[in-house]
Amino acid sequence: MTDHDIAIVGGGIFGVSIAKHLAEGTEHDVCLIEKEYQLATHQSGRNSGVLHPGLALDLEPGTRKAEFAIEGSRRLRDYCIERDLPIRDTGLLLVATNEAEVGQLQSVHDRVRDLGIDIEWLDGEELSEYEPNVRGQAALHTLDAATVDTKPITYELAKDARRGDVEFYLGTEVQQVDRSQDGIHILTDKGTLSVDYLVNAAGTAAVHLAHELGVAEEYSSVPFRGQYYELTTNRRDLIRTNVYPVSMPPRVPNQVGVHFTRRPDNKVIVGPTGMIALGLDTYGVTQFDLEEVRRTVSSSNFWRFIGSPDTMRIAWRELNKTYRKEVFLDHCKKLVPEIDESDISRSYVGISHYVLDQQGQVGDESRFAYGERSSHILRPKPGLTSSLSIGEYIAHEVDNRF
Ligand SMILES: Cc1cc2nc3c(=O)[nH]c(=O)nc-3n(C[C@H](O)[C@H](O)[C@H](O)COP(=O)(O)OP(=O)(O)OC[C@H]3O[C@@H](n4cnc5c(N)ncnc54)[C@H](O)[C@@H]3O)c2cc1C
Repeated sequence: MTDHDIAIVGGGIFGVSIAKHLAEGTEHDVCLIEKEYQLATHQSGRNSGVLHPGLALDLEPGTRKAEFAIEGSRRLRDYCIERDLPIRDTGLLLVATNEAEVGQLQSVHDRVRDLGIDIEWLDGEELSEYEPNVRGQAALHTLDAATVDTKPITYELAKDARRGDVEFYLGTEVQQVDRSQDGIHILTDKGTLSVDYLVNAAGTAAVHLAHELGVAEEYSSVPFRGQYYELTTNRRDLIRTNVYPVSMPPRVPNQVGVHFTRRPDNKVIVGPTGMIALGLDTYGVTQFDLEEVRRTVSSSNFWRFIGSPDTMRIAWRELNKTYRKEVFLDHCKKLVPEIDESDISRSYVGISHYVLDQQGQVGDESRFAYGERSSHILRPKPGLTSSLSIGEYIAHEVDNRF
């Protein structure tokens, strides 16, 4: 390993997007360090793949999150088309199934109509023209949403970064980072290197890495495990596009409820459930990481988060959804009454994380933090949708602070 100006830790879509933007917009000598032998192994390889221009996330016009979402989804869609990457451009429906939800849908409509995205209000009959098997009293429809496959996008971004001479160290785990007067020293399982600046894009591990440099110590993170199901091959025609329930309060920001997603490979995934995970990569049902559990429960932020009545209600709902298939199925049936147990089978698991402040709040906006000689993407929002716009934004920040 050799020394560089800048090291990016994390080969998910955010780390690689930042690498591309630094390579294309600056003269710095950049490297990227990823512990796995492949890119996009964790969150970036295990998500719903929906480009959200705003609807299901209930974005507030004028916020930074809304800007990242709208600009990000347009840019990522154009990128996929230009590079011939898998994309399914079938739009998204946000569905209300009863009177109370119609009221909620109306308030989403009032909020998002100023976002500048194309939306139309559908009554139940119009909804069934788009989705004959979905039952709802009303829906909001946008053609500005799409589904993508994050892994090939990440590899394409990596090619752009490689063209700009970014060095990739794959299969290399960062074990310790220290700051001194002359730079940041990175100890990995393959050797050490020194850099002038560190960019932390370590996903669910980002808060832990920031703490090693004494940054963002007021925050802690808690990992969440999402289990997906998928429609069996012979029942995929139950859903044509992407169907989301309108979420009723209480809700955690960015939590979107059980939804149906038709991916570019034509699989229809359903879910996810959302339970506190017992580790950052504990995808198996019985896996746990004692050190991570200890970290989670030793944080007072976590107890403030878990102690709020809203969180308790959400946790109880999610616990039932996770461990009782019939409860999960009830959530599905609310939108697609015809679905039954034999129509869905267990699919993959994804683990994301919430970053909690000292009040135990998740917060609605991205959380970035900056230290001397370091930038930290603690939690980018709204996810992969915003990876090109946030990647460019962070690359500018790093260049200015370098
Ligand atoms: C279940 C689920 C569904 C989602 N659905 C959507 C969606 O539909 N639309 C959307 O916009 N977003 C969605 N997201 C969010 C989106 O997937 C993430 O925001 C995005 O993938 C995060 O990318 P990242 O690069 O920050 O993290 P990651 O992809 O997790 O990458 C971080 C990388 O850092 C590496 N790393 C960590 N520690 C070290 C270390 N010490 N040394 C070296 N490398 C290290 C890890 O191996 C990993 O590869 C979803 C997420 C999940 C989990």
